[in-house]
Amino acid sequence: MNSIFFEKVLKLDEFSKSDLTDLSQKRFLIIGAGGIAHPLIMNLLGHGVKHLSIADGDKVETDNLHRQFLFDFEDIGLNKALTVKKKLVNKFPNLKLEIFDRFLDERDLYDNLNTFDIVADCSDNFATKYNSNEICHEFKKPLFIGSANGYIGQAIFIPNSVSGPCYECLFPRSSYLPEETCNESGIAPYVLSYVASILTMLITNFVISGHSAPIKLYRIDAKKMELSSSTLRSDTSCIICGADD
Ligand SMILES: [Zn+2]
Repeated sequence: MNSIFFEKVLKLDEFSKSDLTDLSQKRFLIIGAGGIAHPLIMNLLGHGVKHLSIADGDKVETDNLHRQFLFDFEDIGLNKALTVKKKLVNKFPNLKLEIFDRFLDERDLYDNLNTFDIVADCSDNFATKYNSNEICHEFKKPLFIGSANGYIGQAIFIPNSVSGPCYECLFPRSSYLPEETCNESGIAPYVLSYVASILTMLITNFVISGHSAPIKLYRIDAKKMELSSSTLRSDTSCIICGADD
């Protein structure tokens, strides 16, 4: 079934059945089931990912529907992660899907993180991202972070293989809390799928090519039609990874 289902992917240059198997065996944790998570989940599943856990304690609201395309009007008031599951089971019958219908706290991450190979943080707030960053750094788990606000989107890969850099090096919490979210400044819907596509490219390259995905911040400014990237640098005074060196 896999050969037919993924026929077009398997025709890609330098993408083999063994790459498909590698993707299908990795266990992913997606934190947040909102606007970046929807296209990211579909991209990953469309590329052969099979083991997926999704965590979100939010409920579907009317103003989510225009950009969180897996939700319909009939889902309003239901838990987001459970609703995503409902939408995926028919399209991807072989999917091994685990749902956390709550926000994962520090204890949840400590208890569960060892069961995952890759973490993608698609949450909409700095506090969750700092939490993911700190615990992924401690557990040495590769972390992919997506965020969007207004016309700006960002995608980051943090390998956590040996030492820094980490998310805190880039955005020290002393400067970035309290945060601004799309609740205050709105969101251009197409920025979300752009960020999700960059995250997917980073993730698939990481899985297929080993650890060669670039350790960078990718930034899209949709208003200026600009995509830029910058290499992440370790901050020796970082409260998370600064002590590694
Ligand atoms: Zn750091």
